[in-house]
Amino acid sequence: MSSVFNFSAGPSTLPEAVLQKARDELLDWHDSGMSVIEMSHRGKAFVSIAKKTESDLRELLNIADNYKILFLQGGATSQFAMVPMNLVSDKNCANYVCTGAWSQKAIAEAKRFCDVHIVSSSAQGAFSSIPLEDTWNIDADGAYLHYTSNETIGGVEFQFVPNSKDMPLVVDMSSNILSRPIDINKFGLIYAGAQKNIGPSGITVVIVREDLIEKTLSGTPSMFDYRQHAESESMLNTPPTFNWYLLGLVLEWIKAEGGLESMERRNKNQSDKLYSAIDDSSLYANPVKRSCRSRMNIPFTLAGESLDEKFLSDAEDEGFVGLKGHRLVGGVRASLYNAMPDEAVDELIAFMVEFERIYG
Ligand SMILES: *Cc1c(COP(=O)(O)O)cnc(C)c1O
Repeated sequence: MSSVFNFSAGPSTLPEAVLQKARDELLDWHDSGMSVIEMSHRGKAFVSIAKKTESDLRELLNIADNYKILFLQGGATSQFAMVPMNLVSDKNCANYVCTGAWSQKAIAEAKRFCDVHIVSSSAQGAFSSIPLEDTWNIDADGAYLHYTSNETIGGVEFQFVPNSKDMPLVVDMSSNILSRPIDINKFGLIYAGAQKNIGPSGITVVIVREDLIEKTLSGTPSMFDYRQHAESESMLNTPPTFNWYLLGLVLEWIKAEGGLESMERRNKNQSDKLYSAIDDSSLYANPVKRSCRSRMNIPFTLAGESLDEKFLSDAEDEGFVGLKGHRLVGGVRASLYNAMPDEAVDELIAFMVEFERIYG
């Protein structure tokens, strides 16, 4: 057992079983005589790992054949640019919902490539809610509608899939992909950096409907072209092989744990418990509107910044790490991704109760 509970927002805790398996296979993968790290990405062994990873992801999310799955580099941040470069085509405008820091970054990057139409923004309310869908104003000339399904910093999560009215729906699902079943057919494109919920940093998953990747903006470099990545099965250049393998181990673990329904149950149970502990106390507070609260990232504050510091340092002494809130918002943030054991949440809550008894 690892000696700490890691609540970091990303890179984040991985299932212990995955790390053990990676350790056991590190020097000699399946009698190949080599580590996965050393293998040619075009050799039979690695190609089998890559194919298995793709088919497990297809199975878990029930992804139809008309969607391509890409395993890329550059993080979700590269996708902020790749999405408009590949999907704007001759439209010159795209729709964005602005619900927090990650939406803002996606918007800033898209503005380099097209006009950005803000469909709705919760900036006025300090990003503590999701604007009601019937107040949205979608530009019918936009190439697509983009949103961020879970705002990792603000702790705000969509509990519904937006209706994009025949327009391709694009989502940054970096911090809640594979945390619950979804209907893939509602989406044109899904992207997610792996290091939050599905693996290590350095690899990014893109799931895109094939008909959407016909035409890039002129001048788009090959490495930013979805079509070229799709045609080369994500091996346009040397892919991040070890990260790809680790992501595959996480997918196998999710399947063994009972799939996405099981992940959803666990996430709901853990986050309900932590929110109740916050709401029942007079020391801790979460600023997010209840119906928009994230099951993955739970920010909270104490009564005063100096107490935040005391809480964080005492927590660290007790083996609860990665709890510091994002530098933009401060406070405390507990990230409860799929790999978080129930025990960690129970013990964190017990620590919070004890801390409040002494300092509350
Ligand atoms: C972490 C995060 C990103 C940035 O991911 P990188 O892989 O570091 O580029 C983008 N969007 C969301 C929602 C995130 O949580």
